[in-house]
Amino acid sequence: MSFTLAIVGRPNVGKSTLFNRLVGKRLALVDDQPGVTRDLREGAARLADLRFTVIDTAGLEEATDESLQGRMRKLTERAVDMADVCLFMIDARAGVTPTDEVFAEILRKRSAHVILAANKGEGAAADAGVIEAYSLGLGEPIRLSAEHGEGLNDLYTHLMPLADKFAERAAEDAPEIDVTLDEDLDDMDVVPVPTNAKPLQVAVVGRPNAGKSTLINKILGDERLLTGPEAGITRDAISLRIDWAGDDGEPVPMRIFDTAGMRKKAKVQEKLEKLSVGDGLRAVKFAEVVVVLLDAAIPFEQQDLRIADLAEREGRAVVIAVNKWDIEDDKQDKLRELKESFERLLPQLRGAPLITVSAKTGRGLDRLHAAIMKAYDVWNRRVATAALNRWLSGMVEAHPPPAPQGKRIKLRYMTQAKTRPPGFVVMCSHPDKVPESYSRYLVNGLRIDFDMPGTPIRLYMRGQN
Ligand code: GDP
Ligand code: GDP
Repeated sequence: MSFTLAIVGRPNVGKSTLFNRLVGKRLALVDDQPGVTRDLREGAARLADLRFTVIDTAGLEEATDESLQGRMRKLTERAVDMADVCLFMIDARAGVTPTDEVFAEILRKRSAHVILAANKGEGAAADAGVIEAYSLGLGEPIRLSAEHGEGLNDLYTHLMPLADKFAERAAEDAPEIDVTLDEDLDDMDVVPVPTNAKPLQVAVVGRPNAGKSTLINKILGDERLLTGPEAGITRDAISLRIDWAGDDGEPVPMRIFDTAGMRKKAKVQEKLEKLSVGDGLRAVKFAEVVVVLLDAAIPFEQQDLRIADLAEREGRAVVIAVNKWDIEDDKQDKLRELKESFERLLPQLRGAPLITVSAKTGRGLDRLHAAIMKAYDVWNRRVATAALNRWLSGMVEAHPPPAPQGKRIKLRYMTQAKTRPPGFVVMCSHPDKVPESYSRYLVNGLRIDFDMPGTPIRLYMRGQN
């Protein structure tokens, strides 16, 4: 079994229904095993080619003396501690209830891997609830129908990278690639990270030879990882936990996903290609902040653009770092040229920081640190509803929305439904008629007026019915 998934949520949202669907006939009741009370059911799950253990936290309905909330909290915490990943389920038809919010709070505190699912998602009756789910602050919900088997593809897409990650940790799946375990590294790791602080997840991505390994070495401040221009050089990790102190000396716990390691170890060409694509993708999926590392000599190559675009579409905070700045002669001209290319080639990342660094000499690393922290901050930013609505009426006044086919679009109210990245919902008449250009106008305005450069901003138009 590669990993354990716990299905949590209040009674009646459909946990058991999903559990049964995932387990099918392979249900193994483990009620009387130590550590597992009758509240928790465990089974061997299968989803396409994934195999994992699933825990169902049903059984909450049984009456005991304890309050439902108290038991719910305990049970959920136990399930979270047993599991690698939590699927937090709400009922999309009912929308977000106060009890759901209690759950969300528990999950956020436990800093677990959480996948949010809005179940009973079949049909239009679930539309509003699915959007409401964003307000839980746990990211984009998967729209599921456990009963009808809908949305399982999305679930698979979310689980696959996690499955890979846990498989790597267990070193089950990668005998030929020979990646040393994270855990081994932790023994000799630089600074221990407090167990409660969730490290900031950073991915360093970029073309081969951009200098990813050199950069990470420099950050680590030692030569533990070997680098060099030759392929096949020894690397010993795919992710590293470190405390990286910036200019202000405050150490920030981070987990850095290094996409160079695995690829360099790959022996066969075919494997190499598969890994480099999948690896970058996976790193982006895990990351909160993605550092796209460019080689100053050959910046903004196809591959760089693809990965930067992917990071934007996945909603990650992005920092562009231009490496090997030490060998640039005409730095000023070059910088102007870089900024111009950036704007032209990656308009979707407008305002994202572009930092010049030398991984070799270490110049610019403080600025890179600051840019990562700032990007992360913006990514997490929450704008107060009152301020948003004042802003919205100003924007509408300055430039009213069009009236397609004589139908006036009224933008009534706006709220920030989520962070990481920031997502906003605008209640309006005829949401499907709002032109793309008008949405862009609002998004660009949000960026400027609320100082949110670089971060992907999501805007959802929603009708009132
Ligand atoms: P649990 O208490 O969270 O384990 O919820 P159950 O799995 O027992 O489901 C509660 C009720 O919701 C049952 O009547 C299910 O048939 C129903 N249900 C579960 N999933 C869906 C779904 O996707 N759509 C609809 N419409 N009903 C569902
Ligand atoms: P990776 O494939 O992205 O991990 O790249 P490496 O870290 O292995 O670096 C590739 C080559 O570029 C090595 O020869 C490094 O010494 C060199 N390199 C990396 N960073 C710099 C830098 O800032 N300046 C210079 N001059 N060379 C660098």
